[in-house]
Amino acid sequence: MRIRGLHKAFGDLEVLRGIDITVQRGEVVCVIGPSGSGKSTLLRCVNLLEEPTSGTVAVAGTEVTDPDVDIDQVRRRIGMVFQSFNLFPHLTALENLTLAQRRVLRRPKGEAVRVGRANLERVGLSDKEDAYPAQLSGGQQQRVAIARALSMDPELMLFDEPTSALDPELVGDVLAVMRSLAQEGMTMLVVTHEMSFAREVADRVVFMDGGVIVEEGSAERVVGAPRHERTRAFLARVL
Ligand code: ADP
Ligand code: MG
Repeated sequence: MRIRGLHKAFGDLEVLRGIDITVQRGEVVCVIGPSGSGKSTLLRCVNLLEEPTSGTVAVAGTEVTDPDVDIDQVRRRIGMVFQSFNLFPHLTALENLTLAQRRVLRRPKGEAVRVGRANLERVGLSDKEDAYPAQLSGGQQQRVAIARALSMDPELMLFDEPTSALDPELVGDVLAVMRSLAQEGMTMLVVTHEMSFAREVADRVVFMDGGVIVEEGSAERVVGAPRHERTRAFLARVL
């Protein structure tokens, strides 16, 4: 994934002011930064939930910001996991996983069920396929949401603070699933405040503030030995 010169304004408010990030295939890049720095807007520009004001985004060789590009075609190659799990409450875990496969990818029911079950197993929830979201813990719901995204065979996974809404004791299971995805070679762009996850899993950490990248480098470098005062001040608050 390649982001070049990305700007996004909402009216007079310039939220992204020239962002450049490259994520190589199989890499995990973590984005950290204070609330309001533009992290969610950045992810939303990658899958065109927001239209960039200027700049380019390319995913797996396709310029997603090209006006001629089929947005739906782009989105189905990019999995997104939000802070809120956004599962359909009236569908079981397995039905949540098969719906988009059938509607968007036009997979036959048998194949969608097979892929869905394989991904529930991947997130450790094989025994919950018939459970409704309300019958699952927040951590389990988030793992279903991850399995749902994986069921679309994405080439890139975007995570926007996937553990921020969870009770502390449920965070570990979700991070463990993300860690194993990283080990399997999934390409991931992860907004997170989990510094231990970033240190352990990220190939690179990007620190954003005020719509720009203040510094980036290995987790050890950025989290362990930040060069900029703004990074130090942020880390002092979250660590
Ligand atoms: P972060 O995820 O780092 O907390 P966001 O990307 O959510 O930051 O928001 C960055 C800034 O953009 C905030 O000031 C927010 O209020 C503003 N913003 C985000 N989305 C919109 C929108 N749809 N309309 C207007 N302002 C927005
Ligand atoms: Mg955000």
